[in-house]
Amino acid sequence: MQLAEMNWPAVAALSKKTPVVIPVAALEQHGQHLPVFTDSMLIGEIIRRAEQALKDRVLFAPVMWLGNSGHHLDFPGTMSASPRAYIDLLVDMIENFMTHGFTRIVVLNGHGGNTVPGQQALFEVRQKHRHRDDLLLLFSCYWALGSQPHQVDPSIEQHGMGHACEWETSMILALAPQLVGDYKKAAAVDPSQPFDPVHRAWTTKDRSAAGHIGNPRVATAAKGETLFKVFSADVVNLLERVIRWDGSRWG
Ligand SMILES: [Zn+2]
Repeated sequence: MQLAEMNWPAVAALSKKTPVVIPVAALEQHGQHLPVFTDSMLIGEIIRRAEQALKDRVLFAPVMWLGNSGHHLDFPGTMSASPRAYIDLLVDMIENFMTHGFTRIVVLNGHGGNTVPGQQALFEVRQKHRHRDDLLLLFSCYWALGSQPHQVDPSIEQHGMGHACEWETSMILALAPQLVGDYKKAAAVDPSQPFDPVHRAWTTKDRSAAGHIGNPRVATAAKGETLFKVFSADVVNLLERVIRWDGSRWG
């Protein structure tokens, strides 16, 4: 179900055990070859596919397109909430659904920069409502739910999410090829972090002059279709688990 298409009595009639998905993404530079709305378009397509499988068992909020994208602000077109404003916005969205009685809320993320503030938002809501024992508050990136796309299609070279990379370029090629620029001219940008496993703070221009991180040149629309299938199946599996949760236990 799409919240945006429902009237309030229809929302009121839903079981309060219905999982609610808040999809969060971004509007930010995606190299010289992909549109700035890439993350929002990709999670929108993954949700569209998941909703077809789940029908009226899950409520999907509209994609929240404004994200935490300060690290991309050196590139024109990027828009970003400041981190504290973003945390507060997510806290409000989660608490709005709690006000309406819902107890199973999944923030599904389509942009890496949202991970830290997104998890912080869940932390703050949980501590504020610490007396409750009926809440299931979850956060995950859609590409981090367990499946390994390269095991499904060995021609997929990338093993983790980059930025305007093989994965994202492939998915936009499958979804909206008319929006893809000359990705064959994009030089490969090493996605590794030399101080790994230590976290080093970064801005995108520290790592990439063109704005992408990864190797867009090996992207294909066929890989994109595989990635959509793998990631949307993972999202469906996650939401089936949320539906099966008994309503109180940790496990
Ligand atoms: Zn992206």
